[in-house]
Amino acid sequence: MKAMILEEISPIEKEPLKMVDLPDPVPGPKEILVKISACGVCHTELDEIEGRLPPKLPIVLGHQIVGRIVKLGPGATKFHVGGRVGIAWINSACGKCHFCLEGNENLCSEFRGTGCHANGGYAQATVVSEDFAYLIPERFFDAEATPLLCAGAIGYRDLILSGIKKGQVLGLFGFGASAHIVIQIAKYWGCEVFVLTRSEEHRNLAKKLGASWAGEPGDRPPKKLNCAIDFTPVGETVPYALRVLEKGGRFVLAVIRKRNPIPPLDYGRLLWDEKEIKSVANITRKDVQEFLPLAAKIPIIPEVQEFRLEEANQALLLLKQGKMQGAGVLRMPD
Ligand SMILES: [Zn+2]
Ligand SMILES: [Zn+2]
Repeated sequence: MKAMILEEISPIEKEPLKMVDLPDPVPGPKEILVKISACGVCHTELDEIEGRLPPKLPIVLGHQIVGRIVKLGPGATKFHVGGRVGIAWINSACGKCHFCLEGNENLCSEFRGTGCHANGGYAQATVVSEDFAYLIPERFFDAEATPLLCAGAIGYRDLILSGIKKGQVLGLFGFGASAHIVIQIAKYWGCEVFVLTRSEEHRNLAKKLGASWAGEPGDRPPKKLNCAIDFTPVGETVPYALRVLEKGGRFVLAVIRKRNPIPPLDYGRLLWDEKEIKSVANITRKDVQEFLPLAAKIPIIPEVQEFRLEEANQALLLLKQGKMQGAGVLRMPD
């Protein structure tokens, strides 16, 4: 099979992903072999490539995978050959520790990420345990379903963890693939949404999707925010957001790594008044299982920009430069 492989940590500008031929993967016990048709491109892949979240090397990146099952491993019974499934960031967890038993498998110390600890979707095929694959609702095309598996499902988790309630004000800092799905869920739940982002195009898209106000980072929104979610890679967003967070409000950091440090926080001005800061780590199967049918019901149809598999470096560079329109998706050759 054709795959884009990462062999060493490098800035994306050096085009470190190389097209190679790899042997077709073989499904082990209770695994399925998936012929991939589309795989989403995610900021996390930039973090992996550039060493902020080092993967095992060499690695096939990609964790927003949609394809069809072509072979079942021994004892695999959940799906049938020909079924259309998705694979997300959670590739496996131990299933036995107290985090796993309490439904917090995202915090399991044996958590393995797709396209990080196990080969992922920048390829024509992959294998995964049948317990970590999801049926894709029929109303979605393959490419438009891919961002639902990371940007969407993690955005859903961000929203749940933000504790936002109907009628409250939600602030979104940054407006990329995840935020443009989050705003649609929040509107569906009856929240008022303010968006703060540098890009004028993103502010316009936010308004189109229902934001009642959109401004630049550092601007003061018309009301204080009951909850806020930070999708930006920069540390400065944290004090900005805390300044406009309502008393008792919660601020959720949705990124895995910040590109630069969070500036010192003035406790009396920014944190007192029972403000909370929470991060989001990984994702559980339940998040994906709950979110996919919700996305079909609302419905959330992500805007995607498609690339060929061999254009993965260029797609990631556009993402780094903030020039991606909607979510980037790689199309696999037949
Ligand atoms: Zn992702
Ligand atoms: Zn565990």
